[in-house]
Amino acid sequence: MVNVPAIFGSMVFNDTTMKERLPKATYKALKKTIDLGEPLDISVANVVANAMKDWAIEKGCTHYTHWFQPMTGITAEKHDSFLDPDNDGNAIMEFGGKQLVKGEPDASSFPSGGIRATFEARGYTAWDPTSPAFIRDTTLYIPTAFCSYTGEALDKKTPLLRSMEVLSKAACRSLKLFGKDVQKVTSTVGPEQEYFLVDKKYYEKRKDLIFTGRTLFGAAAPKGQELDDHYFGSLKTRVKEFMAELDVELWKLGITSKTRHNEVAPAQHEVAPIFSTTNVATDHNQLVMETLKKTAEKYGLVCLLHEKPFAGVNGSGKHNNWSMGTNTGENLINPGKDPINNTQFQFFLAAIMKGVDEYADLLRISVASAGNDHRLGANEAPPAIVSMFIGDELQAVVDSIINDNDYVVPGKVPMHLGVDVLPEFKKDTTDRNRTSPFAFTGNRFEFRMLGSTVNIACPNIMINTIMAEELNQFCDEIEAADDKEVAIKALIKKVFTEHQRIIFNGNGYSEDWPVEAEKRGLPNYRSLPEALEHFDDEKNIKLFEKNSVHTAVEVKARKEITLEEYSKEINIEALTMLEMAKQDILPAVSEYVKELTETALSKKKLSENIPTTVEEDLITTLSNDLVSFVKKIDALEDTVVKGNDIEDKLEQAYYYHDVVFAAMNELRAVSDEMETITARKYWPYPTYDELLFGV
Ligand code: ADP
Ligand code: MG
Repeated sequence: MVNVPAIFGSMVFNDTTMKERLPKATYKALKKTIDLGEPLDISVANVVANAMKDWAIEKGCTHYTHWFQPMTGITAEKHDSFLDPDNDGNAIMEFGGKQLVKGEPDASSFPSGGIRATFEARGYTAWDPTSPAFIRDTTLYIPTAFCSYTGEALDKKTPLLRSMEVLSKAACRSLKLFGKDVQKVTSTVGPEQEYFLVDKKYYEKRKDLIFTGRTLFGAAAPKGQELDDHYFGSLKTRVKEFMAELDVELWKLGITSKTRHNEVAPAQHEVAPIFSTTNVATDHNQLVMETLKKTAEKYGLVCLLHEKPFAGVNGSGKHNNWSMGTNTGENLINPGKDPINNTQFQFFLAAIMKGVDEYADLLRISVASAGNDHRLGANEAPPAIVSMFIGDELQAVVDSIINDNDYVVPGKVPMHLGVDVLPEFKKDTTDRNRTSPFAFTGNRFEFRMLGSTVNIACPNIMINTIMAEELNQFCDEIEAADDKEVAIKALIKKVFTEHQRIIFNGNGYSEDWPVEAEKRGLPNYRSLPEALEHFDDEKNIKLFEKNSVHTAVEVKARKEITLEEYSKEINIEALTMLEMAKQDILPAVSEYVKELTETALSKKKLSENIPTTVEEDLITTLSNDLVSFVKKIDALEDTVVKGNDIEDKLEQAYYYHDVVFAAMNELRAVSDEMETITARKYWPYPTYDELLFGV
């Protein structure tokens, strides 16, 4: 049996370990840095480093690494041993404050979007004491931020930390208006992570899964998700054993893994931790994704994190449950029992409404990826249009404020199930809305547009920055007013009125919504290039610069990188398809046609009276298909060559979306058609049946 409290955080240099191992004064100084963001002295860092090293060595470590999240979105690590030769040629184990605080990896091979030329290879990693160090295998991992020699952020963490800081300041400033003096406000997030598990023996036979993480060919299985029998279904033994080990590994790393269940599509699952600060949650989510992959292998499984591994069934996303709370324990997104009289909550709600409305494009941009393009707006994820769901109770509050009407309390109704032994409980005043991209769920907002692989720093940088901006604007206005109470009420009313178009409580999957959204003037960016085009719009650059989250240079660099990555990803998919088509599928079908032809001929030889129409029909159909297949291969090949030559990154991304991707779909359609009529023993790849139902 697993003793959860005993293993939880056992591989983390957490608060308990720090208290145990650090001198009181050092601990206090470090806590001030962690909790209140005060700068850290090198003498303190020296003591911390030494304690960390001793702890790590006791746990079997030989190495340490500065762990960071470059703009590829995934994590990077370069290991150094603690080894340090002394004058007598003996090895001692050393680790000082300097090494803890700063690293200097050769940064030239990480994407920088033109921020740094290769001859300026210098990059720095800087210790982030707000996310605890941890041990994996025999290495001590130190979470770090990554920046260029000239101080530009080259990673996901630096802007996230900057956004948390501005949000904290803006929220503390806002709370002063309500007579509250708090020192720090932290944004929190609980990410729910979806993934697929497939059997390794099938995975290894699919070049598309190996190179791109998704199936580029594959006819639908006879069964999909139509029976809804997988969602919350009982777990298969191998999956359950995998999940049990996953939990143990996550708990050791101090990750509060809490919920696990089967998801909608066959072979799809979800894991969710309890929320933490956006920074720690981001690091943890990266670890969750890595641990999912590592643990799966031990069970002969492969974990697919791609947003759309299979056509025809749901893809995978990530739900970003976001809120903000004070260091005194107050959740600022909690409306409490009396929302109509909770002016402070209304103030924060107004900031969110205004922010989501004015910067809907940035929220959309933050979740844009080639993989997510398959989901958003495709009737399984929220649409590509950003809107907010606030539910009946808050809607009544907003309506009554806008219209100066009496507020009608949608009172809590008791729930009676008609059976006396079942407990009676009160219904929530607000039902859920699964089709909304930004939904209020009682004491937090759930941003649902994220793809399963996205680094959650991206959306949280946006949410935090937008909130900080709006709150500061509000404060500027109210602080200048004579009667603050009156001014706050007027401001809330004005904002609710001006930004009510962002609220949509209806069905986000319905065909009417995009039409209605267009009438309201809400942007609908259906693909990554469409969205990214707006990243460096003037208003967005202004937002980032004013709040010191990104410089204009950083924004433009990020735009370039994202566009380039998008084109490259589709390019790899196209090349993989071409290889599969030419080297495997075409020869396989041709081989089957040959068998059919030989069968027909030998039948004829035996007797002219034996019918061969079945073979002949199939031969004709498949031969025609092959002609069309080769045409599509040539067409795709052509588009890829042209795509590579386009210089402008935006133009190139549009081309890959409009032309290359379209040619890929046409090629796939012919192959999938042939798959359904080719004898199984000839088909070169494991089928959807095996991939989706083979575990
Ligand atoms: P559901 O699937 O019903 O939306 P889950 O329980 O799977 O809910 O996930 C909800 C997530 O929201 C959890 O990670 C939970 O810790 C998180 N959450 C709860 N309260 C907050 C909060 N104040 N801030 C951020 N996240 C929160
Ligand atoms: Mg959820």
